[in-house]
Amino acid sequence: MIRVALLGATGSIGGAALDLARRYPDRIRLVSLAARSNDAALVRAAKEFRVERIALVDAAAAARARAAWTGGAVLDGEDSLRHLAEDPGVDVVVNAVVGSVGLSPTVAALEARKRVALANKESVVLAGELLAAIAKRTGGAILPVDSEHSGLFQCLEGRGSKDVARVTLTASGGPFLRRDARTIADATPEEVLRHPTWSMGERITVDSATLLNKGFEVIEARWLFGLASERLSVLVHPQSVIHALVEFVDGSVVAQLSAPDMRLPLLYALSYPERWESDLPRLKLGDIATLSFEEPEPARSPGLALARQALTLAGTAPAVLNAADEEAIRLFLDRKIRFGDLMPLVGEVLAMHRPSGPLSLEAIADADRWARARLHEAATHWIRR
Ligand code: NAD
Ligand code: MG
Repeated sequence: MIRVALLGATGSIGGAALDLARRYPDRIRLVSLAARSNDAALVRAAKEFRVERIALVDAAAAARARAAWTGGAVLDGEDSLRHLAEDPGVDVVVNAVVGSVGLSPTVAALEARKRVALANKESVVLAGELLAAIAKRTGGAILPVDSEHSGLFQCLEGRGSKDVARVTLTASGGPFLRRDARTIADATPEEVLRHPTWSMGERITVDSATLLNKGFEVIEARWLFGLASERLSVLVHPQSVIHALVEFVDGSVVAQLSAPDMRLPLLYALSYPERWESDLPRLKLGDIATLSFEEPEPARSPGLALARQALTLAGTAPAVLNAADEEAIRLFLDRKIRFGDLMPLVGEVLAMHRPSGPLSLEAIADADRWARARLHEAATHWIRR
């Protein structure tokens, strides 16, 4: 029985984790749950799984939860995520919160020598190098939940980077793969949020339309697998059946395939090194018939170039990219800027940034704040234009 803290329990990945806990009652014990502000959903899950404690970052939501649920402790505030992550009664932390707030619980869990089933890719984008060092020092481990990285992890089977010629991450291409390129800039939030193959939270869905999500995944692969950026490539594969491919130095290529269902990579991050039998939807290649691939078109994937730029700048640049993007997406969803303004605006902030000094958690937090403020300054000029 693994004892699990689930952070981001009310989200899309959080829902997948609850589903797995329902399917494997003899293997998965949910000890604690956390979310930002959806107290009704969190209390419902707390009752169903009889957890020991819950956390709501929003204090008013936590107060409502205390009135509605007396089965255990209710924590509040941003530190509450960290407290759940370092709880000695927990073996595995499923980090499924969205955004840079996910970094501190990832650090806390690794410091406490735990396994982190990591969906929160922002943790690795911001601090991949630091996380690898912490894990090495403490014996904690990150098991990827992002489907491409779970695929890579399965293809590599522990092989080091010296055996690898290059790896390819696949991208669905997002909702605008076939749309007339001249009209993409004016896409509405509703159009952007209609993803063809995955049903996900708002932030990652918007990032899938700019392909910045894939760019973040390149950065994520850089640090999770110690592969230099020249060896990381991206291929558009609209069926989302192959998640990752590894070309070894001898020319042999190993790929990982599965039905596009986030419960599978999450299951593997929990069961590893075992595989648990499942009745999740199986891949029926005969029904799919065709798997197709194409190189990403630069005009449809501005986020890829930005992420590569941030990787080259290194240090706090990926943190700046992430924070500026989080803020810009808010403005876009609030209809303050156009879809076509998103990446140029984020790029403007990235171009202003001068990474300096050694990377540290403080430097990352400073860069995050700096980027959010700069983004809003830059946006006021854009909004006026
Ligand atoms: P979501 O928006 O559906 O859910 C986000 C969760 O995080 C919610 O439970 C919310 O309460 C919580 N949260 C948001 N802001 C918070 C804050 N300030 N403090 C504490 N909790 C907060 O997002 P999602 O699609 O489930 O994605 C979660 C993470 O998983 C992201 O990092 C995303 O990139 C990654 N991911 C998601 C998918 C997917 O299919 N959804 C696939 C790969 C990776
Ligand atoms: Mg992914």
